[in-house]
Amino acid sequence: MTNLAPKLTHEQYENNFAELKPAFTKNQATVEANRCLYCFDSPCMKVCPTHIDISTFIKKIATENVKGSAKTILESNWIALTCAKACPVDVLCEGACVYNERGEKPIEIGRLQRYAIDWYFEHGMPKLFTPAPKNGKSVGIIGGGPAGLSCAAECALLGFDVTIYEAKENAGGLDLWGIAPYKVTREDALNEVKLVESFGVKIKTNTQIGKDISITELEKKHDAIFIGVGLSKNVDLKIPGEELKGVVHALEFIEKVTTRKWSSVDLGKHVAVIGAGNTAIDAATEAKRLGANEVAIIYRRSENEMPAYDFEFELAKKDGVVFLFQTAPTKIIGNNGFVESMECLKMKLSEPDESGRRKPEPIPNSEFTIPVDMVIKSVGYEVNDHFISQIQNLKLTKGNISVNSETMQTSNPKYFAGGDCTSGGREVVNAAAEGKRAARGIEKMIFNR
Ligand SMILES: Cc1cc2nc3c(=O)[nH]c(=O)nc-3n(C[C@H](O)[C@H](O)[C@H](O)COP(=O)(O)OP(=O)(O)OC[C@H]3O[C@@H](n4cnc5c(N)ncnc54)[C@H](O)[C@@H]3O)c2cc1C
Repeated sequence: MTNLAPKLTHEQYENNFAELKPAFTKNQATVEANRCLYCFDSPCMKVCPTHIDISTFIKKIATENVKGSAKTILESNWIALTCAKACPVDVLCEGACVYNERGEKPIEIGRLQRYAIDWYFEHGMPKLFTPAPKNGKSVGIIGGGPAGLSCAAECALLGFDVTIYEAKENAGGLDLWGIAPYKVTREDALNEVKLVESFGVKIKTNTQIGKDISITELEKKHDAIFIGVGLSKNVDLKIPGEELKGVVHALEFIEKVTTRKWSSVDLGKHVAVIGAGNTAIDAATEAKRLGANEVAIIYRRSENEMPAYDFEFELAKKDGVVFLFQTAPTKIIGNNGFVESMECLKMKLSEPDESGRRKPEPIPNSEFTIPVDMVIKSVGYEVNDHFISQIQNLKLTKGNISVNSETMQTSNPKYFAGGDCTSGGREVVNAAAEGKRAARGIEKMIFNR
């Protein structure tokens, strides 16, 4: 499709995609750090999947030991900058802060974490960690997203020889080409890749396992293999008209937005986004910020069943995104091969289905048509099964790789896995935690320690 929406000025694009949560100044960080009660039972630390010692890193900021603070954070989480900026803190650390119980504003833990890690990168990554002497064993990591990077960093520090194989031209995964630019910048994601490389990890980019290097070759090279391939297979709507120009998958669209060449992203004037998960909301918000006249989210259930976080929902509404709940698309209608409108059906909700959410059922004769010139599909993502089927005895559960949750070992003992390909899609912080846990699992499997 071509760009149908009005072009914005460079300044307007920059404003629309400016960071939502700007960095703290030194004074702001010190004042905020001094507000922390340093609770002895740290509910914030317990709820963080990487269990960062939050009270300690905040105390170090209060005493102006920012380098020490960065060390405390990185000891638990190698993807700490992305997490500081993109974690759903309202439902994690900040949501658990005791200030909430007192009806007061919780400590801004995410912004304090960012303050320390920004300092670390701005000061040229001073040496804080020394890898153990080489242990003679080698680990291959498939996928350079947060799960793969985290596993690689931890394995390198444990003394393994580590190589990441990444299909794209850069490692970073969705931190680089998925998360909205008003949360995380490309520079942030690339800095985290540099940190991992500084431990001696080799990264082979433009190398897709299963295509450029076979599974057999990989197994010969490495003593253990970690799979961190995320979810790269898009789910289709399975309705007529999906082949029309102007129908795209959300990740295809979002990847173009995150490369920041905003004026050249193909965009409709009237955009429909199908689905109401966090990715759908990101696509809708980004389409609006790029200059689309109208953006509507079409979701077959109600607001109560919507998988997106409340704060993402609020942000989209604030940006002017419209929500059509209990509505399902039935047909995309075209003219000369381009999208022109979409037929929808109203839904009613009946008893809960196996997902625990109330099941949507069509209301007969409730069809209506909306004019749209772009449709963004965001109804689910799956593990690329072509690649996975080449690995012997690898068990899947509901399409995700099955693992032992303590060691992250799969049903094939040589393989470990973590991140979205095991969970079906969660957050960066979960991928970071699982990658690290898998490194310990690999050490246990090889050295029994
Ligand atoms: C649009 C969007 C927005 C998001 N926003 C947020 C957010 O704001 N906050 C948050 O915490 N989380 C967010 N998430 C979720 C988060 O990005 C993921 O949970 C996280 O990136 C998962 O990490 P991963 O390493 O498992 O997978 P990925 O980040 O997907 O990385 C997988 C990597 O493996 C590579 N790969 C795949 N197959 C192969 C192969 N055969 N050979 C070699 N390499 C391969 C891929 O190219 C990719 O680099 C968002 C997700 C999406 C889709």
